Amino acid sequence: MKKKALSALLTVALVISSALSLVGCGNDNTTPVCTEMMSTSDREISVSVSRIDNLPSDFLMGADVSSYLSIDKSGAHYYDHEGKELDMDGFFALLKSSGMDIVRFRVWNDPYDEKGRGYGGGNCDIQSAIDMGTSATKAGLQVMIDFHYSDFWADPNKQMTPKGWAAMSASDKESALESYTRESLIKLKDAGVNVTIVSIGNETDNGMSGVTDWTQKCALYKAGSRAVREVLPDALVAIHYSSPEHDYVTYAQHLIDNKVDYDIFGTSYYPYWHGSLENLTAAMKEISDMTGKRVMVLETSWAYTLEDGDGNANTVSHEENSDDPYYSFSVQGQADEISSVTQAIADVGDPALGCLYWEPAWIPVNYYNPAGRDADKILEANKKAWEKYGSGWASSYASGYDPEDAGVYYGGSAVDNQALFDFGGYALDSLNTFRYMREGHQAEGLVLSQIIMPKPISLEYGEDIHPYLPMTVRGELDNRQRITLRVEWDEAELAGFTDVGEYTAHCTIIDEIPGGDGTPRKVMLKVNILPQNLLVNGDMEKGDASGWNISDPMAGVTTDDPYRGSYSLHFWSEGAVSFTASQTITADVDGELIFSFKAQGGDMGDGHVLKAVVKNESTGESVEASVTLSGWQKWQETGSIPDAGINALHVSAGDKVTFEIVVSGSAGGWGTIDDVFLAYK
Ligand code: CA
Repeated sequence: MKKKALSALLTVALVISSALSLVGCGNDNTTPVCTEMMSTSDREISVSVSRIDNLPSDFLMGADVSSYLSIDKSGAHYYDHEGKELDMDGFFALLKSSGMDIVRFRVWNDPYDEKGRGYGGGNCDIQSAIDMGTSATKAGLQVMIDFHYSDFWADPNKQMTPKGWAAMSASDKESALESYTRESLIKLKDAGVNVTIVSIGNETDNGMSGVTDWTQKCALYKAGSRAVREVLPDALVAIHYSSPEHDYVTYAQHLIDNKVDYDIFGTSYYPYWHGSLENLTAAMKEISDMTGKRVMVLETSWAYTLEDGDGNANTVSHEENSDDPYYSFSVQGQADEISSVTQAIADVGDPALGCLYWEPAWIPVNYYNPAGRDADKILEANKKAWEKYGSGWASSYASGYDPEDAGVYYGGSAVDNQALFDFGGYALDSLNTFRYMREGHQAEGLVLSQIIMPKPISLEYGEDIHPYLPMTVRGELDNRQRITLRVEWDEAELAGFTDVGEYTAHCTIIDEIPGGDGTPRKVMLKVNILPQNLLVNGDMEKGDASGWNISDPMAGVTTDDPYRGSYSLHFWSEGAVSFTASQTITADVDGELIFSFKAQGGDMGDGHVLKAVVKNESTGESVEASVTLSGWQKWQETGSIPDAGINALHVSAGDKVTFEIVVSGSAGGWGTIDDVFLAYK
């Protein structure tokens, strides 16, 4: 996750949607005011989950519930599947009976301002881990402690030094981290908390505690690990990174070279950002083969609705997401996602140690419906609770420590629609997925209700179509469960796609169709055969900058946010954005050249420039087209495309033509450019 993910996760401008028609309710204090008015539909859904047959015997199912205590203190309530209200012991007992083996708590060194006011995000200090951990232990759950070694959120975008360590050198931080870890673990041990895994840092791809150098970072891992071995010799030590699409082999080599003593190589895996399940399995298998360590998914989640429940816009929302082909946004979709990710990590084999869901209990303090009665009062009550109890992602008091994010966007939860409890705190059946994955829980008589149409494909004239053709499609059953169906393509039809132009290809589903009568079903696919691209690596799929002359390392070919395929030209700069990416070609015949490109990004400032200039160096003539970036995944397309009003460029055989992308904008600007195309008309 780079800058775009940060803005997606933490974009918390209040969204006032007028499209909702749910019933409102409320009063003006900070106690829950709405649970009795919640829709019952989500909580009555029973999910269908296939048994996973290849789970290692010591595999751990679980979740991070770090925000629970602050939500509970804010006055919200949790209910079991029968509608019975739960106290803290009851809550953890429900997690245990749902099939969880372990719960994870993040720990921040000192998440308070100079007046002792909490930063939010659960105000997760060591005491909150002790309070929740005691109750979890009583319920028979194991406990994982996730030290961020920061006073607030640590992730690939920020690894801020704790206030108390601000003036320290890297080697002083080592001893401070070791004694802090030792003292914290002794407190947990003395309280009787059953800590079985300790994570030394959180998503530490780009640093830890303000340290970015790998050797120094490894010295910090080793300091933390020493403290774990000393205080809790039976506990496992985990190292945690953010995406299996990152270069984990290099990360693991650093751990080997620096002789870091650890047991678990952990990863986050959020389906919107972190690639395919196949890649998750392959990446973690490669790491376990290379290191001999256990591997875990330490964070994953999915949304059961695109609505927001607390008045703080969500990461996954109507604004950001359309229908996803892989899982539906539903209670069943959550069960599908949890079981698919668990299956993917189990497929690594014996080194697979577990899969944890991220924040199933981060529900709204009060259910907020902008169209409902007393909506303003409910929102005010939520804001008060976020400030007072830290139950939002950040309070205003965090702005001194985290001015760039919390200082601008502080507020509630961006993930309340990814909880495994509904907006009123009632357990959803997706919470039982952890148990169902061991036992199986299949509904009978399900019927295929729709097929998710495959996305149109584009290829260049002369390219083999087969690598572009999907071999499966996703279908949705009448319980909203998504399944994979294998297909076979009509080769005779494909053989006729010989010219530039648009075609429709057909495939036949060869798997048995649930509820079907045995008649094969056909699925259509739009195929666009484009003229031959005169640019080398215009789609960036060579995975590096081949063909391109890029003027500054702030831009490069990465896996961040491709429009199509796996790679794009990504840029980000802490200082002002300014670079060019260019190629030169020689025209081989007379004709008219057309071009196009796609781009997305933001934080570039007013008057930023992102344009392509095509210049005939022999005649001096040029044409250009520009876009204005408007946000994450808000793709813009321009060039000599229909309606853009941009002319083609005339060339004669032998003319030299330069194609140049020119980008400039404010400090902190980011974005990606993809599918860059130059061809004869
Ligand atoms: Ca929200």
